Amino acid sequence: MGNNIGFIGLGIMGKPMAVNLIRAGYQLSVYDINQDALNDLAQRGAVIAKSLQDLAANSDIIISILPDSPQVKEVTMGKDGLLAGLSSGKLFIDMSTIDAATEIEIHETFRQIGVDTLDAPVSGGQPGAESASLSIMAGGSKAAFERAVPVFQALGKRISHMGDIGSGQITKSCSQIATALATQGVIEAFTLAKKAGVDLVKVREALLGGFAESKALSITGDKIIREDFSPGFKLKLYTKDLRIAQNAASSYSLSLPGTQLMFQEMETLLQAGKGELDFSALIQVLENN
Ligand code: NAD
Repeated sequence: MGNNIGFIGLGIMGKPMAVNLIRAGYQLSVYDINQDALNDLAQRGAVIAKSLQDLAANSDIIISILPDSPQVKEVTMGKDGLLAGLSSGKLFIDMSTIDAATEIEIHETFRQIGVDTLDAPVSGGQPGAESASLSIMAGGSKAAFERAVPVFQALGKRISHMGDIGSGQITKSCSQIATALATQGVIEAFTLAKKAGVDLVKVREALLGGFAESKALSITGDKIIREDFSPGFKLKLYTKDLRIAQNAASSYSLSLPGTQLMFQEMETLLQAGKGELDFSALIQVLENN
C-alpha cells in the first residue's frame, strides 16, 4: 500500500493524466462508464475496478476528473458510490471543474469517516494533460496537500495550494473568466481582419510578437484559422464553467459583464447543437452576425 491510486474519469483530460501516473510508477485502478476508455487504460497496465466501492477499498488516494457536479456527487455520495468502500486515512482528490459548494459538501461527508479531501482543478487543457505540465490549483488542508504533492508532480508543473477546501474551484473560475475574455479578444480581432481582407495567418504571427501574445492567440487562434473545431475543450463544458463563475460572483453580489456576454454567446451555440465542438467555435457567433 502507499502506491495505489483509484482514478475515475478517463475522458480528454483524465486519460492522459492516468497514463502519466502509470508512467510515474503508480498502480492504477480505473473506473469510467465508457468501456473503450477502460480497455485502453487496461492495455497500458491499469486494473479495471469492478465497482466504485472496490476501487475505494483498494486505493490509498482516489482521484476523479468528471464533467460536472452531478457526476462527482454520484460517484462519491451516490447509491453505488465510493462512500461504501472508503475507510479512515484515505485521501480523495477531485480534479474536475465544479462548484465550490459541492466540494465542501463532499469534504464534510467524507470527514465524518476520517477521509480527507482536496479540490484540485486543473488548467492547461489536453496538451497540458498529455505533457504532464498542468497548472494544479488545490484547496484543502495543508497536510492533505502535502500528501498529494508527489502525485501532482506526475501530472503538472505549477502546483499551488490556494487555501481551504473550495478555494481551488474559485481559482479555476478566475482562470476560466480570464481565458474566456482573452479568447473573445482574439475572436473579435480575427473577425475584423477577415472582413478587411488581411491574412489571418499573418495577423496571428504579427500579434504573437507583441503585447497581444497569449495562449488564446497561439493555440485557440491556430484552431480558428484551421477551422479545426474538434475538442480540445468542449463548448458545453466551458458554458458550465462560466455558469459556475457567475454563480460564485453572484454569491458575493458581484456582476461580471464580460463573463455574462461570453456565457450568452456560448448558450447561443449550445442551443444550435454545437456543445460537443471545441470552444474556439465561438468565432461562429460573430461570423453569423
Ligand atoms: P470528457 O467529457 O472528455 O470526459 C469525461 C469522462 O467522464 C468521460 O470518459 C466519461 O465517460 C466519464 N464519465 C461521465 N460521467 C461519469 C460517471 N457518472 N461515472 C464515471 N465516469 C463518468 O471531459 P474532459 O474534457 O476530460 O473534462 C473533465 C473535467 O475537466 C471537466 O470538469 C472539465 O471542465 C475539466 N477540464 C477540462 C479541460 C479540457 O481542456 N478538456 C481543461 C481543464 C479542465
